[in-house]
Amino acid sequence: MGVVPRLLKFVFPYWPRIIVAWLCVFGSAGFVLAIPRIVGEAVDMAVQSRAEQAGAGFGWDDLRPLLIAAGLVVAAAVLRGLFAYGQTYLGEWISQRAAYDIRNRIYDRLQRLSFAYHDRAQTGQIMSRATQDVEGVRMFINMGVLRLMYVVVLLAVAVALMISENWRLALVSFSFFPVIAGVSIFMTMRLRPLWLRIQDEQGRLGTVLQENLTGMRVVKAFGREDSESKKFAKEAKTLFQDSFASNRIQAVNTPLLTGLWMLDVAATMWFGGYEAIHGRLSPGDLTQFVLYLYLLQLPVRSLGWIVNLFARAQSSGQRIFEILDAESAVKEKPDAVELKDITGHVRFENVSFSYDAISAVLKGIDIDAKPGQMVALLGPTGSGKSTVVNLLPRFYDVTDGRITIDGIDIRDVTLASLRRNIGVVQQDVFLFNDTIRANIAYGAVDATQEQIERAAKAARIHDFIMSLPDGYDTWVGERGVTLSGGQKQRVAIARTLLVDPKILIFDDSTSSVDTETEYLIQQALQELMKGRTTFVIAQRLRTVKRADQILVLKDGRIVERGRHEDLLALGGHYRQIYDLELRDQEEALARLARPAGALDTAPAAGG
Ligand code: ADP
Ligand code: MG
Repeated sequence: MGVVPRLLKFVFPYWPRIIVAWLCVFGSAGFVLAIPRIVGEAVDMAVQSRAEQAGAGFGWDDLRPLLIAAGLVVAAAVLRGLFAYGQTYLGEWISQRAAYDIRNRIYDRLQRLSFAYHDRAQTGQIMSRATQDVEGVRMFINMGVLRLMYVVVLLAVAVALMISENWRLALVSFSFFPVIAGVSIFMTMRLRPLWLRIQDEQGRLGTVLQENLTGMRVVKAFGREDSESKKFAKEAKTLFQDSFASNRIQAVNTPLLTGLWMLDVAATMWFGGYEAIHGRLSPGDLTQFVLYLYLLQLPVRSLGWIVNLFARAQSSGQRIFEILDAESAVKEKPDAVELKDITGHVRFENVSFSYDAISAVLKGIDIDAKPGQMVALLGPTGSGKSTVVNLLPRFYDVTDGRITIDGIDIRDVTLASLRRNIGVVQQDVFLFNDTIRANIAYGAVDATQEQIERAAKAARIHDFIMSLPDGYDTWVGERGVTLSGGQKQRVAIARTLLVDPKILIFDDSTSSVDTETEYLIQQALQELMKGRTTFVIAQRLRTVKRADQILVLKDGRIVERGRHEDLLALGGHYRQIYDLELRDQEEALARLARPAGALDTAPAAGG
């Protein structure tokens, strides 16, 4: 289906309003067209009464038809105004409402697309589609569906009336139309690529600004203010040049169009006067003719603009439909069942995975996690630890093999029920711009204050929250209190505790926190893992030691598996990781066990 018909489907639900709007269009066009006629008749009547009473003094009778005509003109103008109001009002309502529907559809689609889509999509691009492209479509709906109707009615009726009045004069008048419409379309065609560039440049300028503001600390730390300003100025300059060029084209062409129009009026007056002198046209008809010509000015001159409106709707609509038509890589089966009352027995059976269908990131992964067990994943950066845990909530789908929970393939259950049963505490915790209470209750919006506090206490963050100025009502996130990494992590743990999932994923790989925070997180984690099947990407010896299974990954394969002591004795990859990374922690812990001065030597990095 073409883009424009698909866009029109967004207005279709409001068809009763469109019909009323079109009635208003006919009403206002009708009364606009009546005005020249009234004026023309009045002129003829006045001229005639002068002729009949030639020689007699100026009398009341001369004035009467003019007064009546003036009254009728005012009445027609008022009625036209009422209809025009209805037309504009409904036009705005329908187009804004359709834009609202489109925006919601885009947002909804973006929520439902899988990680694979968002990995590739550029935020700036999506933003400009949700704003500028929707606006382009809105203008098209308003102008293309309603204004266009007005223009067509006006054009058709006025042209027909003029031809029936005096076809020779009409031919003279119309002979200029192709030239005027041509100039108008030519101007728009020259402007269009500029407008597209300007739109694109505005997007880029926004990206530069956004990046600069979010990266302000880096800019200042490296003293790059000057070069950042230059970068911005360069983008801003192209925007200035293109905006200026577009205005220059308009500045040349608008007077040209007006001049051509005046020539048309002059030609019409000249030939119309000639016809009137020869008695083939009354003065009133000539007046009427010229007034119609004025009415036609807008439709004829805006032809280029209408062409542009369609072109813009075409390209904007295409970009919008690209989002709306994007298929999620992770799909729910139509007969998917609810996953509920699970024990939490998770199995990976010969799972392989690739992000790009070219190179496999995971190869032949087998995991059997019994209910309540803790599985620790270890391995060098890029070995695929995060990828393994991302497959479980179906952030991505396996390329080969299968994953089951209590024996059910996770692709056979609904996404909502699957994710409700899996709690994820991610590596970089995201806090919304909201109160700390709302952030904790994000997954369980109707949790009571008591439940929230219980979760916060278990996550060892309650005391900290109480020390904040507004307690649980303190705003956090971008424009609120800034929490440290360790504090954020505990908020995330509280958030997950509140949802109470049977299966837990804890990506703990960036944890350089001070010993006290480490101790708090450890306790929170212990609380969190009680009675849940847990997958933890661990860097802490204490966690690893307690794991029921340790899986060591290398290049997307499990190269070693077992418990701490066994793997240590094996003297392979785990032994190496232990010697290089974990052993230090053991020594630090041992030092910590000695009371005096212990904390001074403990590794401390910003918590
Ligand atoms: P780890 O968590 O062990 O550091 P990851 O699972 O994050 O490793 O990454 C495993 C491999 O997959 C790496 O080579 C990484 O570059 C690649 N990878 C990770 N995420 C993506 C992604 N979203 N798209 C494409 N490749 C990815
Ligand atoms: Mg990772």
